[in-house]
Amino acid sequence: MKARLSATCMTCNEARYVNVTANDVTHYLKDDKLVQDVWPDLNAWDRDIIIGFRTGVFQCQDCWTKEGDEE
Ligand SMILES: [Zn+2]
Repeated sequence: MKARLSATCMTCNEARYVNVTANDVTHYLKDDKLVQDVWPDLNAWDRDIIIGFRTGVFQCQDCWTKEGDEE
């Protein structure tokens, strides 16, 4: 079964999504797995969305890149 996780960027308030399987989500939340153990093939930005979904703290790739440029 497919599942779509979302996390809202704390800087621009835009929601980002990542498509995963419900099975993997259960694995991640219930078995307390690390995101890189459950989804070793996902890129870092997609993993960030999943972490944001879980923790409520998320910054999207655009804002992350922008803030990095300003420094
Ligand atoms: Zn953003």
